[in-house]
Amino acid sequence: MSVHSTEVRLAARPHGWPTAETFEITRAEVADPAPGQLLVHNLLMSVDPYMRSRMDDRESYVPPFKVGEALQGGAVGEVVESTVDGFKPGDTVLHGLGWREYALVDARSAAKVDPSVAPHAAYLSVLGMTGLTAYAGLLRTAEFKAGDVVFVSSAAGAVGQVVGQLAKHKGAAKVIGSAGSAAKVAFLKDDLGFDEAFDYHDGPVRDQLKRAAPDGIDVYFDNVGGEQLEAAIATMNVHGRITVCGMISVYNATEPTPAPRNLAQLIGKRITMRGMLVTDHGDLRDAFVRDVAPLVADGSIRHHETVFEGLDRAPEAFLAMMRGDGQGKILVKIA
Ligand code: NAP
Repeated sequence: MSVHSTEVRLAARPHGWPTAETFEITRAEVADPAPGQLLVHNLLMSVDPYMRSRMDDRESYVPPFKVGEALQGGAVGEVVESTVDGFKPGDTVLHGLGWREYALVDARSAAKVDPSVAPHAAYLSVLGMTGLTAYAGLLRTAEFKAGDVVFVSSAAGAVGQVVGQLAKHKGAAKVIGSAGSAAKVAFLKDDLGFDEAFDYHDGPVRDQLKRAAPDGIDVYFDNVGGEQLEAAIATMNVHGRITVCGMISVYNATEPTPAPRNLAQLIGKRITMRGMLVTDHGDLRDAFVRDVAPLVADGSIRHHETVFEGLDRAPEAFLAMMRGDGQGKILVKIA
């Protein structure tokens, strides 16, 4: 029995910032599942910065989205039909075909999740890809150790909120976060327990960071790039470590952006600056869940989600996430 499904397609590749014209919301017929496939009714989906890179037609670590086809991304849904042993109607699965009501999912790329253990949203945020990014990027890539002073940018976002709290929980001497509004600064300090936080619009980041960390920083978890990366290098102690997780400040740039002007400081300070991709750290998933799930369950690690209602609001949710008009992880409730 085929179904009709609403889906969000890439209508045109954006030049600079995506607009409403970048997306097309349309109806499509979804075929019966072939052997090895599941028909999944999506309930909740994620919008993420990496989707912006996939809208461009350029070589990257993930292939570009195709114009005229539905976008893709993390989603949690309920199996409606299954051709595969081990999956049955009613199972809840995590998979990569969001941006549509119904998805034909290859069972090998679906993972069963238990909604009685954690809510759907957690599997797309603190216990999902963004949580694992924070865990691997802090503990493995930055080689965090107790006593470090840690600075994280986009700290009130999906990855950042976990980085800061995890560092604090694991014995950081001080955790500093930057974010884009006074409300987010208050959220970091009052709700998430950051020691220091500042709004990067409130003056030169280098000056604000120096005030927050007069004795320097040991770890910078970079989500943003640009001015914040330059300020972190300037403030970094000898043998400091930088995890290059993301550089959202340049994702919509239409011209090449300048490198940090003080890169030469990496030499004298013996700074390690290392890029990371969460997909390289799947081996940490079990340890991550064992370590972090109890902290989420007992409230030691808090997580905030901003949920947009309705698949037709997914483009709006994506743009809000890119602009910073939401707090924590941005999700879209499909059903
Ligand atoms: P997020 O932080 O929840 O959302 C993006 C945030 O970036 C916005 O809310 C906004 O918050 C901030 N932002 C936008 N433009 C900015 C600018 N010009 N300067 C400073 N901040 C800006 O997103 P996320 O999912 O947690 O991802 C955070 C970063 O990690 C992104 O760069 C993403 O690409 C990267 N990432 C990498 C991996 C990996 O495997 N390497 C995996 C996941 C995510 P404000 O209101 O604070 O400005």
